[in-house]
Amino acid sequence: MISNLPSVRRRLAENLKRLRERIEKACAAAKRDSKEITLVAVTKAVEIDVLRQALEAGLVDLGENRAQQLNQRAGMMHEFIERRAVLTGRSEKPLPRPRWHMIGHLQRNKAKLVLPWAELIHSVDSLRLAEELAQQASKVGRTVDILLEVNVSGERSKFGVAIGAAPHLAEQFEPWTGIRLCGLMTMLPIDATPGEQRLYFDRLREVFDDMKAEKVVGTHFRHLSMGMSNDFEAAIASGSTMLRIGTSLFAGLMSAQPPPPEDAD
Ligand SMILES: *Cc1c(COP(=O)(O)O)cnc(C)c1O
Repeated sequence: MISNLPSVRRRLAENLKRLRERIEKACAAAKRDSKEITLVAVTKAVEIDVLRQALEAGLVDLGENRAQQLNQRAGMMHEFIERRAVLTGRSEKPLPRPRWHMIGHLQRNKAKLVLPWAELIHSVDSLRLAEELAQQASKVGRTVDILLEVNVSGERSKFGVAIGAAPHLAEQFEPWTGIRLCGLMTMLPIDATPGEQRLYFDRLREVFDDMKAEKVVGTHFRHLSMGMSNDFEAAIASGSTMLRIGTSLFAGLMSAQPPPPEDAD
């Protein structure tokens, strides 16, 4: 698909500007420095052209929720960047290499698709998946960074481990050198009120702080991946270090059908 690139660029720049203003405002209200917060652009619902524009606009942390799509897009972008570098030589600044974030439910049999590309897997939601990732990564002499997904609201349709189980699971990950637990992730019910959003995010923050204080985890444990388009301000107030944002960033540019979430395995 050939989209109208100048207008895509303009729209994206406007959305990004507005989003950054809202992030700054929420940070100021919480007396936080926005530099502590990584913006992960969730690209699951945009075409690959828009994704390239996002990269050119400086969005290097890209999130996908399906293993297959992450694998394909990461491969395509890698080729695109290499080819562009060869074609333009030194006349243009090379595009940065994207950092891919796997944010959706991951089935164990798809771990192999994600491992070669993922900078961080946000959605580790079981001991079995953690073990599979640890084994696969060890086989190739790697360590993959992961977050433990917590179902903080207890909503039945959500993936993630029960909040009380998080410290216990973290202890069990400890001996596996193929994975490194870097923090916690959550996703709230879509209909949570702003008050409920703060309660849920604060609860996860408390567990996160407790796990650090009790040294259940190492020094790499420093990320709280929480906050999407409709709740990121509450997440910032509660101490989020990673926002995963799609709709606010790509409003007017979401031509692709977002892939449905994976089924449970
Ligand atoms: C789609 C998605 C997001 C982004 O949601 P928006 O409401 O579009 O900002 C964040 N996290 C996960 C896990 C997602 O699947």
